[in-house]
Amino acid sequence: MIDLITRAQWGARPFRTPNGATRYGRARAGVKVHYLGTAYSDRAHSQCAAYVRAIQAQHMDGNGWSDIAYSFVVCTHGSVYEGRGLERRNAANGNTSLNDAHYAVCALLGASGLTEPPDAMLHGMRDAIEHCRANGPCGDEVARHADDFATACPGPALTAWVRAGARRPTVAVPPVGARQHVMARGETLWEVAQRFGSTVAAIAAASGIVNPDVVRVGDVVIIPGSSQAVPPVSGRYTVRSGDSLSGIAAGIPGVSWQQLAQANRISSPYVIRPGQVLTIPAASPPAPYTPPPFPRGLRPNSSTPSAVGWQRCLKRLSFMPGSVQEHPNYGPATQEATARFHNAHPQFRSVGVTRDVAVGSQGWAHAHRLAYGGGR
Ligand SMILES: [Zn+2]
Ligand SMILES: [Zn+2]
Repeated sequence: MIDLITRAQWGARPFRTPNGATRYGRARAGVKVHYLGTAYSDRAHSQCAAYVRAIQAQHMDGNGWSDIAYSFVVCTHGSVYEGRGLERRNAANGNTSLNDAHYAVCALLGASGLTEPPDAMLHGMRDAIEHCRANGPCGDEVARHADDFATACPGPALTAWVRAGARRPTVAVPPVGARQHVMARGETLWEVAQRFGSTVAAIAAASGIVNPDVVRVGDVVIIPGSSQAVPPVSGRYTVRSGDSLSGIAAGIPGVSWQQLAQANRISSPYVIRPGQVLTIPAASPPAPYTPPPFPRGLRPNSSTPSAVGWQRCLKRLSFMPGSVQEHPNYGPATQEATARFHNAHPQFRSVGVTRDVAVGSQGWAHAHRLAYGGGR
């Protein structure tokens, strides 16, 4: 489903009249694909709207145009920003005749820096194209800016994508033992990982998710199979005279003699014989880190000893300068750092709050995992 960000939602300036109000003079044959053509680095989704505003400012103030040139802009996270939209003629395809013939959809993709479109972006491009077709309407052509105009736009990666049919990325095939889950509204990857006894990193890797902070409603995620049930085989060892289970295990980092016995179905009294071939199980991962429980009374403008722990956690994650004095008071510095944590991890931010200074239990747990548990 398209994640359409209206002009009001991204804070667009009003377009200049009369030029910005010019409507299409004929039916559109389809969509022309564009890229930025400048250096671009990926950023948190919370900063994408500001980037679209900067493009509009460049087009209006730098180029003297009546509005942002594009019909729509698509960010790396797959959101579609309304530019001139479906009714008003774009100014991006090269000349008035070309502008009149196709919509113009621009990917926030650079000529340097971020040059490969993430899957989420290609989904967003498809969303924008299908939105134009269904609601413009327009024909089913998907072409490049460069197809009728001398330009490098939209660059090699999107050129390859358009030439290959401008398709949605293929869905990853879940490996044996994996489970699938459809993301529901308001659900975070962290919650899904908790429920299935997995980790955000494992699910993201199995599902091909680039940015775990941005998962959309309806996305199908893959929870990889548990590694606990059957220890994977990582090697074999032939027992020699004088060996013991504990002696062998002592030479294998991360493997206990009990695990070695279990992997080879050896039970008490744990007899092994020379020449016997043992399966060496994979080293078990370190015990998962358990964050401390969320402290009651930890809230802005109140005083509690646990505020100091929260400040240390924020410092460790670089959301709070190390120079700030730790104090039981959840004061302005703690609130500012908490707001910065929420901006970086918007899935823990209260709905509708742009500057959330109050940490909740899930944000608290996630921050501690990041700070002290290696992200686990
Ligand atoms: Zn272009
Ligand atoms: Zn974005």
